[in-house]
This record gives sequence, C-alpha cells and structure tokens, in this order.
Amino acid sequence: MKYPKAIMRYCPKCQKHTLQKVSIYKPGKRRASAIGERRHAEDKKGYGGQKFPKLAKPAKVTKKVTRMLTCPDCKKKFNTYGIRIKKFELVAA
Ligand SMILES: [Zn+2]
Repeated sequence: MKYPKAIMRYCPKCQKHTLQKVSIYKPGKRRASAIGERRHAEDKKGYGGQKFPKLAKPAKVTKKVTRMLTCPDCKKKFNTYGIRIKKFELVAA
C-alpha cells in the first residue's frame, strides 16, 4: 500500500485542519531493568521455565502498521488505529 507522506487532517488541539506529517510508529527498546522484564526472566529461569509453547506456526501472516501523525502547529503526535498489511510505504503526494 502506498500512503502519502503528509495528509490534511483535523487537529483536536488546534481545532482546525492542518497538513500533518505521516510516519510509522515503532515501539521503543524494552528496558531489561523494568519490573515486568525482571519478573518474566525470573519465571523463565531453571528447569521447566518455559511456561507456554513457543509458536511454531503463527496464525497471522501480516503485522499491524500504526501511522503516527504530527501536527506542524502544535507538534502534537496522534496515533491512528493499526491496519493489517503486508507492505506499507510512504510516498510523496
Ligand atoms: Zn495541532
């Protein structure tokens, strides 16, 4: 799917339409010192540590793509709902 790099869209903060920049949302790096990560590592440790079978054949063939829109006026970022798609590319429109 080809998607424009900038779209005209309503900004709830500015309360008007602005030409917003489109980028793809990427999750940040997981902190190893976070409590959930430490607890999970502790659970997995030792004999019988793997609590659920590792997925041999995943059900989904696609990944969700979340678009992140940035308003040029207030610099606020908006995430849109994710769409399942094999290929997503941003093109100049
Ligand atoms: Zn705005």
